[in-house]
Amino acid sequence: MNKSVNSQYSLITFGDADECYRSALRRVTVLLNSGRGRICKISWLQLDDVSLATVFSERRLNSELISYLLSAPPEGNIEADRASNEVRAEHEFYGRFQLQSRANPERLHVTFNTTEVFRQWSLDRLHRPDSHDEIVNAMFEKDKKSAYSIVFANYLVKNFWHNIVHLKLQKINDLNFHEFGGDARYESDFVADNLANIFLLKSYGYKVKTRGSQSPSELGKLQRLFEINRCNRVFAERALQRNEGQTKLENFLERGWRFKRQIANALSSKLLCRGAAVTDIAIYFTGKLKAQDGDRDGYYYSGNVVVRLNQAYYNTGCAPYLNDSNAVGLTDERKSDIRTFYSARVQEIVDLSVTRYTSDLKSDKGLRDFASNAVLGLEEKLLQW
Ligand SMILES: [Zn+2]
Repeated sequence: MNKSVNSQYSLITFGDADECYRSALRRVTVLLNSGRGRICKISWLQLDDVSLATVFSERRLNSELISYLLSAPPEGNIEADRASNEVRAEHEFYGRFQLQSRANPERLHVTFNTTEVFRQWSLDRLHRPDSHDEIVNAMFEKDKKSAYSIVFANYLVKNFWHNIVHLKLQKINDLNFHEFGGDARYESDFVADNLANIFLLKSYGYKVKTRGSQSPSELGKLQRLFEINRCNRVFAERALQRNEGQTKLENFLERGWRFKRQIANALSSKLLCRGAAVTDIAIYFTGKLKAQDGDRDGYYYSGNVVVRLNQAYYNTGCAPYLNDSNAVGLTDERKSDIRTFYSARVQEIVDLSVTRYTSDLKSDKGLRDFASNAVLGLEEKLLQW
């Protein structure tokens, strides 16, 4: 079946994309190397990518702090010898992080080995973020190449933190990740997504707030930061390449997890924008998994979506919406309706949960203290070396 990744054109060159990887690595290393007696200043994170690159080259920090490497493709250079995209998605997708403390000066050096597959697919699946934000649109009108570089670097910063959370906090690395499939994979990803959002915000010089108050100007800036992060479909591509040969039930369960992850991610960023960061998010479906009589979709859950935020459980009263917009035989109109209903349901669940959590924050000093201590503890755990 021909559903191969198509690289007939790219929005930026491989050279520009490689510079985005370095930009993202600089932000991550500054955060890891700032603080008492360290060689970076946290205020550098308020600079744009180009200015931060200048600071690094003026102080000769590139070789001290970052290495960006491309792993050689495995066996055989001739296209015909290559593994299928399904195998590549499974086994040749993830790059490798190494964090090494080095002396003179004392520092944490970060190495990222990208794979050929990730480098190519992430460039092919880069897209302009769907935004109504005037500043974002002006940025693309002024200089497309630089705008794509800015959004791609932002995407990579979050991706890098996600991986560093797997590595430093969860002890899941490129060698053992196959041991943590199934629920372990999904749940470790929920945690990594939320913490990556927290560290994305810090990587651009913003403070993480937990008490539920935020100035309108800061709110706007943070919304923009998360909005431009939605600029790459590389993981959707990977899922597409891997999902060949799934049964109907597997496919349904996969959609369930994706629905949960989308809620968790949207909830995480919305709470951060509102100044109400949480360190604990979980999404559950109550009730039972049931087979549907005569329906082409086959299955449904009989209960509601329940959300857990910083240990408190909230019943949203909303049912999961798991119709498949990619099902065979649907008209374009029906597909588009399904996507609209899906987004609306995610939004409804997110809004309800944010309202309930922020209202609890206002009335509960214990919750406010817990929220801020938990963020501090996690920052310490992740940034310490
Ligand atoms: Zn992950």
